[in-house]
Amino acid sequence: MFRKILIANRGEIALRVQRACRELGIHTVAVHSTADAEAMHVRLADESVCIGPPPTKDSYLNTHAILSAASITGADAIHPGYGFLSENAGFADMVEAHGLTFIGPSADHIRIMGDKIAAKTAMASLGVPLVAGSDGEVADFEDARAVADRIGYPVLIKAAAGGGGRGMRAAASADALEEAWTAARGEARAAFGNEAVYIEKYLDKPRHIELQILADNAGHVVHFGERDCSLQRRHQKVLEEAGSPAISAAERDALGATATDALRKLGYRNAGTLEFLYQDGQFAFIEMNTRLQVEHPVTEMVCGVDLVREQIRVASGLPLGYEQAAIRFTGHAIECRVNAEHPVTFMPTPGRVTAFHPPGGLGVRVDSALYAGYVVPPFYDSMIAKLIVHAPTRPEAIARLRRALDEFAVVGIETTLPLHRRIVDEPSFQAGSFNIHWLEHFVSSGR
Ligand code: ADP
Repeated sequence: MFRKILIANRGEIALRVQRACRELGIHTVAVHSTADAEAMHVRLADESVCIGPPPTKDSYLNTHAILSAASITGADAIHPGYGFLSENAGFADMVEAHGLTFIGPSADHIRIMGDKIAAKTAMASLGVPLVAGSDGEVADFEDARAVADRIGYPVLIKAAAGGGGRGMRAAASADALEEAWTAARGEARAAFGNEAVYIEKYLDKPRHIELQILADNAGHVVHFGERDCSLQRRHQKVLEEAGSPAISAAERDALGATATDALRKLGYRNAGTLEFLYQDGQFAFIEMNTRLQVEHPVTEMVCGVDLVREQIRVASGLPLGYEQAAIRFTGHAIECRVNAEHPVTFMPTPGRVTAFHPPGGLGVRVDSALYAGYVVPPFYDSMIAKLIVHAPTRPEAIARLRRALDEFAVVGIETTLPLHRRIVDEPSFQAGSFNIHWLEHFVSSGR
């Protein structure tokens, strides 16, 4: 087992990883930018190292500074959290080249899954069903037109290097194709420095269902069931649940068998999430995330597992130590992402939090690095807290969520808490009848 882990991240996820380390008796090293000197992840770590000024390229993405920090402090492994360097294959290679362990999959697997075209090709060859679309990259507009004619409109043009919902444009008809093509490629070039795109059938009413998997270094692969992340705004998740109100235990088992079989054949290790769109009883793979996800707590609550602890254990070379049959699903969990954003305009609202009162009680968990007096910096992601509830049934989880949202107070800055309060009161949400487009309509209807 590791003695000391450097956590190459900030905010709630840095704290989340620290908590798992503490319980395993592992020392922690925090890294931080000058803007985060007063941050909770720095205060609670055993050691901390300042790695640069506020811009992420100079601090949380500064691989040389982070590796120097690991070397100075004598860390023997690095946990990347999510975002930042978590899906950077070059960084994973550098970590290993320095004789440290990267807590995640191999650089090769990160590289394959980071290119969504390569990911789809790999998954298709392993028997995982895909969304209908182009056969790989579409290099020029004439090809795009031919693919769209073949699969039928509406279509979605997507960046091969995409992430965070960027570099994605839908075209409802042939007339709209050229504009979508130019916009998607332009955004892909600007955001990822890579204008390669591919085309998928644009599904009109899918749910986003993803499967959490975990593999050890000896080829044992298990899954921890699905999460329903259909409530999205601008292709970004807002509220997630485990399990999905739309799929049966038999569907979960079948999807789990296909996915774990594919990853076993791939030789995958550590945690990963396969993302699918689900429509008309069919699952279609869209991408794989080779890291811990923001929404991992809902899975932890229904499975009674600490996924970060499991990531650390398998990265240290320990076997999983349990079979699929040992993983049981109990009750229902829901997570709300609380952002420092105006609840109607979604403009970021950095600034000083004058009072912070998180909810508590049975089945309530808050993952957050906030405290009264903390100044939310303007440089980073706007998510400031995750509220997670767990209860025996979905209706009870919703009642608990409403109660917890009522207790939750963040004073001094606007947050998206009021949006979540409106969502839980919506009959369609309560009935579990929504798809990936539902929240967008709900927000624009001004309800
Ligand atoms: P990113 O890596 O940017 O998050 P994804 O491929 O995971 O991109 O897609 C993000 C979201 O975009 C999905 O959860 C879904 O809501 C929507 N989306 C992606 N592909 C399709 C599609 N073919 N049809 C309809 N919606 C899609």
